[in-house]
Amino acid sequence: MAIQWFPGHMHLTRQAITERVKEIDVVIEVLDARLPGSSANPLLQEMTGHKPRLKILNKQDMADPVQTKAWMDWYNAQSETRAIGLDASEPAPTKRLIEQCKLLAPSRGGLAKPMRVLICGVPNVGKSTLINSMSGKTQAKTGNEAGVTKLEQRIVLADDFYLWDTPGMLWPRIIVEKSGYNLAASGAVGRNAYDEDLVALELLLYLQKHYAPMLEARYKLGISAEDIAALHDDELLTLIGKKRGAVMSGGRVNLQKAAELVLTDFRDVSIGRITLETPAEFEAWLAEGQQK
Ligand code: GDP
Repeated sequence: MAIQWFPGHMHLTRQAITERVKEIDVVIEVLDARLPGSSANPLLQEMTGHKPRLKILNKQDMADPVQTKAWMDWYNAQSETRAIGLDASEPAPTKRLIEQCKLLAPSRGGLAKPMRVLICGVPNVGKSTLINSMSGKTQAKTGNEAGVTKLEQRIVLADDFYLWDTPGMLWPRIIVEKSGYNLAASGAVGRNAYDEDLVALELLLYLQKHYAPMLEARYKLGISAEDIAALHDDELLTLIGKKRGAVMSGGRVNLQKAAELVLTDFRDVSIGRITLETPAEFEAWLAEGQQK
């Protein structure tokens, strides 16, 4: 597998979540809307499978709205599961969360039976930003700091609504190869854990297939979307490098620099709002992975 990233202290988190979940009414999983399948942690399903679930497709401002809707429909078709799209510009995230949790656990609420919610998410999905905006404080530490141990914290969002932040760190568990690439492209994986050329080439392969007109709009390659889609991925990377001046002395394209450019453009949404996997694609990758 090209990218594997699953540090050992996950088992501590697993123990802590299993313990906490006994007194929880709804489990919120914050996902990156650009890669909902790959930014989920399959262990979470195992640990909390019997609890109602709210999937937050976060950073929806960066994702393809058509695909965000497709993922929401896909989750909403599952039992005891609801999904909403969210991003940091949402003016009242707390209200939306409370509404959704009430639908999932209608018997909870009121001071005698406060709603008890656990919020989970792998690094970089925007969980800290969301918690901070709900609690009105700079409580949760934002940004990636691999290995930082976080103490369990309870945040009171309303008199009868308690939110527990995940004890420990929940790492992505990369069970299919494509998920590794998508997590790396999204910026969720430490830079030294992957090869930028490979990640950029995988990203381009996907963009050629699904977002060729956006590539043309961004890089002005002067060829049709069909021709972009037909290019070999390293030809496309070379062309982009040439167009954007990633050239070494002697005129050869600096592919490393071109790869960095493409990844940066994807991460700051300069290419456009893009989602890296559809529900059907993700299911197919999972099925393929299981056959191996
Ligand atoms: P965590 O690791 O899940 O706690 O993620 P953070 O809250 O630290 O966010 C990771 C990065 O994503 C930070 O640079 C945030 O500013 C950014 N971010 C968080 N939420 C959003 C969002 O809704 N939209 C966009 N565009 N960026 C976001």
